[in-house]
Amino acid sequence: MKKTIENFELENKRVLIRVDFNVPIKDGKITDDNRIKESLKTIKYGIEKNAKIILLSHLGRVKTEEDKEKNSLKLVANRLSDLLEKEVTFIPETRGKTLENAIKNMNNKDVLLIENTRFEDLNGKKESENEESLGTYWASLGDIFINDAFGTAHRAHASNVGIASHLPSGIGFLIEKELKNFKKALENPERPFTVILGGSKVTDKIGVIENLVTIADFILIGGGMAYTFLKAGGIEIGKSLVDEEKLEFCKNIFEKYPNKIILPIDTINAKEIGAESVHKAIHQIEKEEIGLDIGPYTVELFKDYLEKSKTIIWNGPVGMFENRAYQEGTKNLCEIISNLNSLRIVGGGDTAAAVISLGFQDKVDHISTGGGASLYLLEGKTLPGIDIIDDI
Ligand code: AMP
Repeated sequence: MKKTIENFELENKRVLIRVDFNVPIKDGKITDDNRIKESLKTIKYGIEKNAKIILLSHLGRVKTEEDKEKNSLKLVANRLSDLLEKEVTFIPETRGKTLENAIKNMNNKDVLLIENTRFEDLNGKKESENEESLGTYWASLGDIFINDAFGTAHRAHASNVGIASHLPSGIGFLIEKELKNFKKALENPERPFTVILGGSKVTDKIGVIENLVTIADFILIGGGMAYTFLKAGGIEIGKSLVDEEKLEFCKNIFEKYPNKIILPIDTINAKEIGAESVHKAIHQIEKEEIGLDIGPYTVELFKDYLEKSKTIIWNGPVGMFENRAYQEGTKNLCEIISNLNSLRIVGGGDTAAAVISLGFQDKVDHISTGGGASLYLLEGKTLPGIDIIDDI
């Protein structure tokens, strides 16, 4: 068991909290502030306990001097201040005298946000490669370290692993919630346990399939990756997405678990993306067609499995959902699982984006805030940003 923020005496302490403020920004405006909202519980707890709160986060990628302006956390500081209804001091640097003096002058309950940690990637990737002196320096600014950035927990960076190596450390409420939900599903699932796997490539999901096929009762496969499985079974898939080098893998795993891996029985095709859609049985795909969504019979088939399941994890949209013509399958699955009483967990990244954009945000039990990090957990791997945290 990892220590959490609740295991520390925070009064008068300088508490460094690594949060995930990697929010989308367009034309100088934050277009989705969900990640800021997800951090509030931990920050408010620190304020309530009379700590001095020092926040660190990355935002986007910083490869050139020009990247700095569009990736400054200044906008985030303003939004956070609105959400907290409290002043947030923004320090436009990642190290130096201004930062050190501002921290020296903090009172209990004050909140301070340091500039984007990835500004330190400009001369030698110090943040992303966890350069020792950077983690040591940031650790010197605090007394306690709390990691609450689930979205980067699968990476060993200076702002998580680096700092945690030098300070007493714990996890925040967001990471605690993420771990609790994934553990419930993966370690001792109420059965039947069904996984919906979609997305574009089999290659990206090999580790997930290999791990979950041993834990889950059923794996329902849709999305671009389904066509590689279908082709491996000798079905004509036309111009649909295919991972040629993974055909053998798909064939072997399907032969080993024929009753566990459930493939589409119909498909929505088009001759080109955006051209007229046609509904076809899976054996009727023509050479010049592309499969872009699961069909209604597949939705019904998947529904039978989902309705009898007690635990459901969903990773990857089952069609090219960004295009309205191919979002029915994903939308119908959202509708089906939103009416169930099972534990329903949605992976981060594209799956979260799909479920949120289709309006089902509050209709499942957990939507992960980390795409890469949730994939790691589904692969059965541990996360370095959490491994490093002190045990109770
Ligand atoms: P991933 O990041 O692997 O979960 O893949 C998500 C992407 O897969 C989304 O952008 C979808 O548009 C895409 N996708 C889902 N189904 C298909 C399909 N049948 N053909 C092509 N792309 C697809």
